[in-house]
Amino acid sequence: MKTKIVATVGPACSSAAMLKKMIFAGVDVFRLNFSHANYDEFERIIKDIHDLNKKLETHVAILADLQGPKIRIGELAPEGVFLKDGQTIRFTTDKSQVAEDKIFISYQNFPKDVKAGETILLDDGKMILRISRTDGKTEVAAKVINGGLLTSRKGVNLPNTRLSLPSLSEKDKEDVRFIMDHNFDWVALSFVRVTSDIEGLISMMNSYSPDHRIPVIAKIEKPEAVKNIDSIIQAAHGVMVARGDLGVEIPLQNVPMIQKMIVKKCLAHAKPVIIATQMMEGMLTNPRPTRAEVNDVANSVMDGADALMLSGETSVGKYPAETVETMQKIISEVEQYDGIYHKNHVPVIKNNLHFISDSIIYSGCNVAREAKAKAIVSVASSGYSTAKISSHRPKATIFGFANNNAILRRLNLLWGVKPVFFDRYFHTDQTINDLIAELRQKGLVQSGDLLVHISNMPINQPGKSNMLKLGYVE
Ligand code: PEP
Repeated sequence: MKTKIVATVGPACSSAAMLKKMIFAGVDVFRLNFSHANYDEFERIIKDIHDLNKKLETHVAILADLQGPKIRIGELAPEGVFLKDGQTIRFTTDKSQVAEDKIFISYQNFPKDVKAGETILLDDGKMILRISRTDGKTEVAAKVINGGLLTSRKGVNLPNTRLSLPSLSEKDKEDVRFIMDHNFDWVALSFVRVTSDIEGLISMMNSYSPDHRIPVIAKIEKPEAVKNIDSIIQAAHGVMVARGDLGVEIPLQNVPMIQKMIVKKCLAHAKPVIIATQMMEGMLTNPRPTRAEVNDVANSVMDGADALMLSGETSVGKYPAETVETMQKIISEVEQYDGIYHKNHVPVIKNNLHFISDSIIYSGCNVAREAKAKAIVSVASSGYSTAKISSHRPKATIFGFANNNAILRRLNLLWGVKPVFFDRYFHTDQTINDLIAELRQKGLVQSGDLLVHISNMPINQPGKSNMLKLGYVE
């Protein structure tokens, strides 16, 4: 399988036995959602995943998903409050002012930032309100356009408002410390609006530990992020199309084409892209997905996503392992289709520091296609070349070698990459033979297979790819 599966860990799959079952079912990356962080439990899960990796010789990665500046209403009566169409509701940022028709909102600048006429969406957009007035200090009044039953702590989306919220809340900052201390492989930032949100997280991680960099995935779920998508893709190390909040903040019918646009741009920049939310939602309670869900998974593979993500389906669903197995079957079937392979990214010559490695990789992927090579063997020092090879979507398997388990786990998110540990790099010819011997010994290649080798030369020193070799396994 080339397309990777990200599964969210929660009570339905967090035991060591279930995590193992999920790895066998096809999980490549486990996601820990910090909206529901329990540090003690997370510590146990991380240890179990690392132990399983050792035992099974796998490189399953762990992705931390920061909650970001999520806005919520406060506590309501246990039975909730029914919002009637046409009724006026008041929101307050002052806890002492809360009353039956005055709801607390966890966003101090709310009355300053909003304007009359703007929209408030509650509970994933199920309820729609239009702001009628704000006192600019603590209180906002809004008319209910689409009512419903509102219960405690539901999420608030403000699609038309320019928010002055910082991109990292106090809770996020505390979570980042935990993430840095526990060797996560990727960190996702929610509600990214501009590149400085990503830069802020990177510099915070740098100030905490300059040698320990965790690559950042920008979650695209705000209209502003869609507008700034080019610069965000450049600043981040990967992207997630977070269709849950995105589908609340922009008209739902716009999501499919935005997904395709983002995947295309990420491929062109060799940045991994994850498609998230409601992919197999029906399997929360049913042993089979709906036809529409099967089509959604298939279409996301055809779009060219690196990875597909499961949320509630695996964290709280009734059939976590079966959902992964079903997703894997759909992916395998679609990957029989030739149209998803061979995206030719012609290297840019002007002002491109990577011109040599980009050219070698471009040529290597073309050679692999023309010669119908079994595999492309890449040696990663930073992971740049392996990501670039993956972005060409070659049909040949990509064996991404590295002498560092953290890099190998990172590579495990990338489309088509099979990470392989190897730490004995001598002179180039000998090392190429040793890598082949390692693949043979693991049963991953056999005599007569044609391999494309892409690496830097000398191979035992860090550097950019500058060498391309085509040869048979003897
Ligand atoms: C989403 O909104 O689609 C998403 C993945 O974010 P979260 O699950 O954190 O709400």
